[in-house]
Amino acid sequence: MRRNRRVKILATLGPASGDADMIEKLYRAGADVFRINMSHTNHQRLAELVSLIRGVEAKVERPIAILADLQGPKLRVGTFADGPAELEIGQSFILDGNPAAGDSHRVHLPHPEILESVQPGHRLLLDDGKMRLRCTAKPEPQTIVTEVEVAGRLSDRKGVSLPDTELPIGALTEKDRADLVAALAQSVDWIALSFVQRPDDIDEVRAVAGNSVGILAKIEKPQAIDRLPEIIARADALMVARGDHGVEIPPERVPGLQKQMIRLCRRVGKPVVVATQMLESMIVAPVPTRAEVSDVSTAVFEGADAVMLSAESAAGKYPVEAVAMMNSIAEEVERDPDYPSLVQRYRADIEPTSGGAIAAAARQITETLNLAAIVCFTKGGTTGRRVARERPMSQLIGLSPDLTMARRMCLLWGMHPVVISEDARDVDDMVEKATKVARDEGFASEGQKIIISAGVPFGFTGTTNMLRIAQVPAPGAAE
Ligand code: PGA
Ligand code: MN
Repeated sequence: MRRNRRVKILATLGPASGDADMIEKLYRAGADVFRINMSHTNHQRLAELVSLIRGVEAKVERPIAILADLQGPKLRVGTFADGPAELEIGQSFILDGNPAAGDSHRVHLPHPEILESVQPGHRLLLDDGKMRLRCTAKPEPQTIVTEVEVAGRLSDRKGVSLPDTELPIGALTEKDRADLVAALAQSVDWIALSFVQRPDDIDEVRAVAGNSVGILAKIEKPQAIDRLPEIIARADALMVARGDHGVEIPPERVPGLQKQMIRLCRRVGKPVVVATQMLESMIVAPVPTRAEVSDVSTAVFEGADAVMLSAESAAGKYPVEAVAMMNSIAEEVERDPDYPSLVQRYRADIEPTSGGAIAAAARQITETLNLAAIVCFTKGGTTGRRVARERPMSQLIGLSPDLTMARRMCLLWGMHPVVISEDARDVDDMVEKATKVARDEGFASEGQKIIISAGVPFGFTGTTNMLRIAQVPAPGAAE
């Protein structure tokens, strides 16, 4: 089973897609990575979903990545005594530390440290940005007096976003810590961290998880934008989380920021995912809008590593159709005559390391000689990332004896990971293994040539130091 596209598809699982049959259908339609949203999944369900995905993985005989997405510090107001409050423009409204039920003049905000941090002038966005308040006074540390700037109806436990306030809280809530431990116990491949604000937030997860899992930073707070390079340096991947992002910063800024984030990630060769509302109308309709098709295409032309489906696959009426549609859009874009040049526009300069130089040379040689595939031996995944960073137009196969690494590489642009039973023993064995995989997985046929990257001595990570051009032998030939 191989894909006819480079960009990867992440599909969120949920009530519409929670059994083995649906997961297999989504995989066959094109999903490379499954996202489990911990905001809506308890630990027992997490274990069930992981085991269902692993069952499909064994059946289709391809590594599949699982991403557990932690809820993060999502702030919510308390409840109201007599139904929702009607907030009118110009009225004053108070958020305070009093746990009593709210009314049309005040409501509880059950986060004492947040109450302290909001200062006069700061905005408070309620219910995904539908209402806007501005703090006008702080008569005491636990009381925020606001004026309503955009009116609406505020009901129980609606979300609060604070675009102007740096939140004095870590990236992990108590719930996130428990969810993280549960996800690690299930050996998921990626952990996504929501509402990242600072580089230290990544370290908090790393302290618990070590390097046993890839850490993906979701960029959905304006505070993170100013520190993108440092955040990217500490994380293993990034998500352009346009849902919450579009609430806290003006939505018209999101497309430019998406380009900036993709460019920064591509520069350092870390995977970047574009997420949210990509095929939103397919939650209820079997076909997307033209604007949605165009949005997915843009991410593919920009060379994002992956595009994501949220409610479309988790809770919509057409999960399989949504994945299939994303797959078709990606295939079509990648066949477009403008695709190679547009994708290469975002390619950064060659990294001045031996691995970087080897990866760039591999791409150059495949282009000059029109080779069928680049096969890299990448035990720890670093060489795989470096070669994917070059966005070569030939096929890309990553061989690793480590199943965890093969799964993690499912998120990488263009990467077809394959688990090998053991590392190459010597150069002849390396050529034999690489050509056999390229042929058997349908990437190169007999007589075609491929390029192989590996590190000598074999069996160590971080040694990539050679390239070898090899011809694919006939099946069964003395290899
Ligand atoms: P969410 O993250 O779906 O977990 O909110 C994505 C986003 O905010 O865009
Ligand atoms: Mn979000």
